[in-house]
Amino acid sequence: MTLIVQKFGGSSVADAESIRRVAKRIVETRKAGNDVVVAVSAMGDTTDELLDLAHQVTPLPAPRELDMLLSSGERISMALLAMAIKGMGYEARSYTGSQAGMITDATHGAAKIVDVSPVRLREALHEGAIVIVAGFQGFNRDTRDITTLGRGGSDTTAVALAAALGADLCEIYTDVDGIFTSDPRAVKRARQLAHISSEEMLELAASGAKVLHIRAVEYARRHGVTLRVRSSFNNSPGTVVYDPARLPEGAEVEESVIAGVAIDLSQAKITVVGVPDIPGVAAKIFKIVAGTDANVDMIVQNVSVAATGRTDISFTLPKTDGEKTLSALGAAKDDIGFESLQYDDQIGKLSVVGAAMRSSTGVSARLFEALFDAGINIEMITTSEIRISVITRADSVNQAALAVHTAFELDAEEDAVVHAGTGR
Ligand code: ADP
Ligand code: ASP
Ligand code: MG
Repeated sequence: MTLIVQKFGGSSVADAESIRRVAKRIVETRKAGNDVVVAVSAMGDTTDELLDLAHQVTPLPAPRELDMLLSSGERISMALLAMAIKGMGYEARSYTGSQAGMITDATHGAAKIVDVSPVRLREALHEGAIVIVAGFQGFNRDTRDITTLGRGGSDTTAVALAAALGADLCEIYTDVDGIFTSDPRAVKRARQLAHISSEEMLELAASGAKVLHIRAVEYARRHGVTLRVRSSFNNSPGTVVYDPARLPEGAEVEESVIAGVAIDLSQAKITVVGVPDIPGVAAKIFKIVAGTDANVDMIVQNVSVAATGRTDISFTLPKTDGEKTLSALGAAKDDIGFESLQYDDQIGKLSVVGAAMRSSTGVSARLFEALFDAGINIEMITTSEIRISVITRADSVNQAALAVHTAFELDAEEDAVVHAGTGR
């Protein structure tokens, strides 16, 4: 028997009607003779709403309690989905992350899966049941606490289950038809890709394309899980994420140098102003930043002003790490000897990604020209082997994406369809 793991995102199970629609789809897969294991996200924007609620109660919620709170969202959807399936006459059982044997490290809010022992899931499958697992959550054996895998983490739950159970396929069902050349909510003419290499998808996910959780792509690559991203609202085949070493049969490599354009509005910039331009200061600053567990992305050090012997160092990090990093640096002001700190949360990051960049010239020239033509100012630049990222003002990043998408000849003939969701 074929084993299929299916993951349904929040907008696919936003209300009772959607849950029934998804239940029907799962039953169809079962009727076609497959064993089915489902990972499900919290309904609609539940996770965001729970987060808002936590912050209304206290400005810095305790991480352990936050995980207890957030993990409840997936418990609601898993139980409702299992009920709906049972109501249709099929056996279904829901399991929390810990019941499903999703063992993680102890890092609340960004836990890593260290082991999956799906004993109960195997038993349930053996007994002919459809298995529903709460996405996004796990359990740490040392602390015996519930953890969550980070925003968008249900994708990773699905891939980890597929790897542990030796599934034949892992399908990620969402509110768009697959992976596009850019976020179809921002770039209407985004074009759907039939295939994308895991290498390019990793880079896009790291650059803010939330269609797949970055850990899910990593995990799938490491464990040889084939991922297909598709819509839960129609039957279109979606997009296959493939291992670049093994191009799928019949697949043609895209001709474009650029696989996709990603936008990220979740970052902020901290500038440490008036830093003494002497050896060891940058090390001091970033040691303090590292101590807060903040995830630093870009770093730029300005040329020092000769007269003062001082310079500015700017770096970007997730907005959610902003407050704690500012207060840690502020506390070390005298030790480091800087003049002041500036915080800017009105930045946007645009990235172009493409494996063919390795062997193509002129990609950055084309990018910068497109931004110049659109009148967009570039504030920071970084590159990797297959990516170029720039920081702009937050309110011009969408316009920048449109211009760049057109400049790299990625525009489709028609507007992309977004079936549901608020994009939150
Ligand atoms: P789910 O709740 O199903 O996990 P997400 O909101 O996490 O859905 O991810 C799907 C969303 O990702 C889409 O609605 C789209 O707005 C966004 N997105 C960003 N970049 C891309 C891209 N390159 N291709 C497709 N969707 C993208
Ligand atoms: N519900 C979680 C979130 O909103 C996990 C997920 O949807 O993948 O981040
Ligand atoms: Mg998601």
